[in-house]
Amino acid sequence: MLLADHQLLQILSQSNLATAVYGSDELHIHFANRAMLALWRKQPNIIGSTLEEAMPELVGQPFGDILRKVWKTGQAYRDTDTPADLMKDGRLVRAYYDFEFRPILDSEGQTIAIIHEATDVTARLQAQANITETHNREQELISKLTQSNDDFKITNQKLQDSNDNINILNLRLQESETDFKRLVEQAPVAILVFRGENLVIDIANAAMLEILDKDPDIIGRPILDSMPELRGEPAVDLLFDVYHSGRVEEGIEVPVRIRKGNVLETRYFNFSYRPLMDHGKIVGVMDVAVEVTAQVLARQELRANEQRLQGILDTMAEGLIIVNMDGMPNYANLTALRILGLSDEEFNARFYNDLKWKNERLDGTLLPDKEHPIYTVLHEARSVYDYELATHQTNGDRKYLSINAAPLLDAEGKLIGAIATFTDVTHRRLLMQQKDDFISVASHELKTPITSLKAAIQLLDRMKHNIHPEMLLKLIDQSNRSLNKLSELVSSLLNTNRIAEGRFPINKQQFKIGDMLAECREQVASATSQEIQLSGDLDLEILGDRQLLEQVVINLLNNAIKYAHNSPTIQIRAEKLPDAVKVAVSDTGPGIDPEKIPHIFERYYRADREGMNFSGLGLGLFISAEIISRHNGEIGVDSIVDQGTTFWFKIPVFSS
Ligand code: ADP
Repeated sequence: MLLADHQLLQILSQSNLATAVYGSDELHIHFANRAMLALWRKQPNIIGSTLEEAMPELVGQPFGDILRKVWKTGQAYRDTDTPADLMKDGRLVRAYYDFEFRPILDSEGQTIAIIHEATDVTARLQAQANITETHNREQELISKLTQSNDDFKITNQKLQDSNDNINILNLRLQESETDFKRLVEQAPVAILVFRGENLVIDIANAAMLEILDKDPDIIGRPILDSMPELRGEPAVDLLFDVYHSGRVEEGIEVPVRIRKGNVLETRYFNFSYRPLMDHGKIVGVMDVAVEVTAQVLARQELRANEQRLQGILDTMAEGLIIVNMDGMPNYANLTALRILGLSDEEFNARFYNDLKWKNERLDGTLLPDKEHPIYTVLHEARSVYDYELATHQTNGDRKYLSINAAPLLDAEGKLIGAIATFTDVTHRRLLMQQKDDFISVASHELKTPITSLKAAIQLLDRMKHNIHPEMLLKLIDQSNRSLNKLSELVSSLLNTNRIAEGRFPINKQQFKIGDMLAECREQVASATSQEIQLSGDLDLEILGDRQLLEQVVINLLNNAIKYAHNSPTIQIRAEKLPDAVKVAVSDTGPGIDPEKIPHIFERYYRADREGMNFSGLGLGLFISAEIISRHNGEIGVDSIVDQGTTFWFKIPVFSS
């Protein structure tokens, strides 16, 4: 059944597709349905006029010509996304249309009408434009974020940027939800979008799935269902907070425990949580995250290394300083400050070769800058080992330092300063000096008896055929005395080391103190004209190594004879104390300077007064003190200059 014309028109008028019919080559509007009138923004009264009468704004636009051509040729014409400027509320407004001009032909092929159908596609084009813009932004975002991988700080900034961008995108969400999804899926930052109160995962992009080590099947499920291990994680609680409060939350380096296989790993994220709004209502939360675990761990490790290094630097026995190319200090460890006797500020204000240090060579002359090990490092870029110099402390003390110095290079191998370690070798240096002094003294001491022995033997040799018996006896006696002196010197030299280390045997026996003291007097009497008097509790029995104690007393007597030869008498006195016996040897000689007394028992110490020159090795009192200490006793001296000296020792007695 064919429909009648008016029936057809009735159908067309019902159509939602904007439709018009032109009935002549002058484009008389024969019909326009409601949709077309709305598109044109015209009333039905235009029906009957020509298109250009009804819409004069179309003159100069291509549509009239196209329609006339369609009429003439009988060829349909269609186009899409075509702009047309139509009057709306008194002004020209551009909109875009898909349209078709379809000729209706009679049986001879003549055009009898043109059907015009049109669709306003402005909104679609707008959406497309949005897509393009979104795409461009996405590209921009991707490139920004790609750069940001290099630099952690920039990453944060970019995260901020990407948040901003995503915010903008968020606004477009309603317009172009699918574009948004596509963007999110491809974004190089990890993104999760949650919907609803239970935070159902709506979108989880590839970057996020990788972080979570999950399959896309978590999408569509509430977060705590798909990842129960996240329950209680503060970062997850915060998501719920954002859903309820609508506040934006940002996190920097927040630890989150994430399940990987069967293990929970703590990883670190910078994130931003933003509420998603729909008509002023919170409908979801978007989580944009950047994983910063590597950076955080690297920094933690760096910090741990630093702490470890600091610990080593603080506890090392050597001083350590670092100076820059100008020779100004950058760093000093605690030991360095202690050795140099400086506070941190004092140290930082000083140039390594500051004149205030009064750096000196070992011979006491001023150390020229060029000889300083740090100078060598900074100017010749080579290391210096065990360089000894003397410095003066702020308090005036002189210290000897042994310095190792090495170039400090940057990553490219460029010299940027010097690092020096040093130890305080003052003690070692002083001991060495004492030893040097001692060797010259000892040689000198040995020379005297050797010379005298040599002389005696030469005389004997010269007179061997004709010698007076008295002379023979005298020369033999001289040789003997020299030899005795020599062997005495040699044995005390040999003994000192053993004695200094406490390595000498001690054989205690009981004896009467008076007997021992008398024997000592006997032994030295011939060497002096001074009177040696014995007094006190001479009948006391004591327990000790008689030979060693004799050595002590003889040493004290010899010293009195040597250093107090002007003292007419030398007193030896034994005295019983409650639990010890005290033996004192007194003279009325020159006495000892009070400031020398504290050192008098030290090894190699000699307290000769100015102008006096006595021979001696500086060992006698040192050895005596060692012997008394092995008896658990005590040794000391009381002396007044120009009045006399009393050396004494106490040996404990045990009532038996
Ligand atoms: P030495 O006699 O070989 O120098 P000592 O250890 O026996 O070594 O003595 C150390 C120093 O003590 C001596 O150099 C001397 O100056 C001082 N001294 C020791 N006894 C006396 C004394 N009775 N009177 C003054 N000075 C003494």
